[in-house]
Amino acid sequence: MKLSQMHLKTLREVPNEAEIASHILLLRTGMIRKLVSGVYGFMPLGWRSVRKIEEIIRQEMDAKGAQEILMSAVQPAELWQESGRWYAYGPEMWRVKDRNGRDFCLGPTHEEVFTDIIRNDVTSHRQLPLNLYQIQTKYRDEARPRFGLMRSREFIMKDAYSFDKDYEGLDKSYQDMYDAYERVFTRCGLTFRPVEADTGAIGGSNSHEFTALSEVGESEIAYCEKCSMAATTERAECVDAPAQDDVEMLPMEEVHTPGTKTIEEVANFLGLDQTQTIKALLFVTYNEEGKENGYVAAFVRGDRELNMTKLVNALNIPEHAIEFADEAKMGEVCGCVGGFTGPQGLHDCKIVVDSELPGLKNLVAGANKTDHHVKNVNYGRDYKGDIVTDLKTLKVGDPCPVCGAPVKHARGIEVGQVFKLGTKYSSAMNATYKDENQQDQLIVMGCYGIGVTRTLSAIVEQHHDEDGIIWPMSVAPYHVIVTLVKPEDEEQAAVAENIYKTLQSAGVEVLLDDRKERPGVKFKDADLLGIPVRITVGKRAPEGIVEYKLRRDAEKSEKSVEEAIKDAIAIVNAEK
Ligand code: ATP
Ligand code: MG
Repeated sequence: MKLSQMHLKTLREVPNEAEIASHILLLRTGMIRKLVSGVYGFMPLGWRSVRKIEEIIRQEMDAKGAQEILMSAVQPAELWQESGRWYAYGPEMWRVKDRNGRDFCLGPTHEEVFTDIIRNDVTSHRQLPLNLYQIQTKYRDEARPRFGLMRSREFIMKDAYSFDKDYEGLDKSYQDMYDAYERVFTRCGLTFRPVEADTGAIGGSNSHEFTALSEVGESEIAYCEKCSMAATTERAECVDAPAQDDVEMLPMEEVHTPGTKTIEEVANFLGLDQTQTIKALLFVTYNEEGKENGYVAAFVRGDRELNMTKLVNALNIPEHAIEFADEAKMGEVCGCVGGFTGPQGLHDCKIVVDSELPGLKNLVAGANKTDHHVKNVNYGRDYKGDIVTDLKTLKVGDPCPVCGAPVKHARGIEVGQVFKLGTKYSSAMNATYKDENQQDQLIVMGCYGIGVTRTLSAIVEQHHDEDGIIWPMSVAPYHVIVTLVKPEDEEQAAVAENIYKTLQSAGVEVLLDDRKERPGVKFKDADLLGIPVRITVGKRAPEGIVEYKLRRDAEKSEKSVEEAIKDAIAIVNAEK
């Protein structure tokens, strides 16, 4: 392609809302265009890279025997009502009505639709296993769309669904997809880590997220350097503090603690460690009609951080059905007092207690009375939980749940996730097959997603410098850029044209910068666009000498035209 003919508009300035490198660079290179918040289009260079990622995914999916199909984005509400997710999916679902008032959504994911196809098409065990996938546009009305393609409201996803006769089959399908994902992200040039993950709104038993490591990522992962433990902090299990079985319970004692609303203030005021206190967090929940549906008081040791994912899982409600309570309103019903809430004597609310609290003795908790706390609060004698479960977030330095070594944290971008769904959807939607004995059996499912457009962002996030993008060859929009310094110089133009044609006929994707621009502009644009190989045709063209430079290296060298062509072909073939 000749740049003089390409639809390309690079930008010098980008909107302030673009805060992270990938968002800024994808806008500056003119690869993506924003239409409205969280909705983007792709210009020629951007679309080429998207298609390269898609092609890598297709090759790896096909290699595992998965078959590509394409379903509609429009989905009828009835399917989601059958699975129970019309409500559970919440406000992220982009809901629409047709002219007759019938409910639909623009699909945020396709478990229901794929299960529906399979329950109609598959009758016999002989038709299983099956893995179907699509690369398709998804819609999620995200609460906070941001970072460009990273969290958008319309985005491209590859979603695959596996259908097996039994759990053994599912284990194999899952492992196949896990292996395919490792290959996909490696080929995309990403540094990533598969980590155990929560199953969220999708459901099922086991799950892994593939996280591209990056400081700007929204996923936080906890990992251990001594063993192989790695999990999202949403998911990671915590080790309870050892139970203090031989410590005697002392009598409760109310103390005056004026103005000490936070754990830090109480602990300082009483000269105690935060580990000797109980922290309260108060919530209100909502029912399917969006009406208030009762209060929840959650308790963790004072120094711990409440893990919302674990709380929501324990309550078995969707994330959107709970929020922080108005403490005054809750106090009237339940007897708590904002800043001074303790578990003893609360009523008319669900009490959820972290699993380590029952083992700990003589803790300080709020007295449910302004400016007062109670010392020596003990589980069993003074309070009980309706639910007792691990509610805490695994923090840096906490013991690893597998081996006990201190845990580390890293941030990353979730580029893909795989789930063992089991029979969650097949039982809700009655997807069965007849086994060898003509008995009906539930189909066992898995599902597997890759954020195609988020992967594009993640690649740029990991591959750039202050001048622009540095594309890995495999996903670069073009492999080589030939920069023609003086297009009006006939000799230079002829040499550039020759390189351009020769590379093209060798299967190399080439851009020829033949624009009538100053050389400085062309070099700046070449660096910004991040094409892996640059061949500059300038003053020494009449002698058959050009300049050869890899975008990722600082050095450049002079080479003969033949050598430059040979080296470019070699590196493209080795890395594409
Ligand atoms: P997140 O936790 O980031 O909201 P998710 O866990 O809800 O994502 P999945 O349902 O697992 O996402 O979707 C599969 C993949 O689709 C994700 O791994 C991610 O790469 C991509 N994805 C999800 N939401 C978005 C979005 N709003 N914008 C771009 N890509 C997304
Ligand atoms: Mg996910």
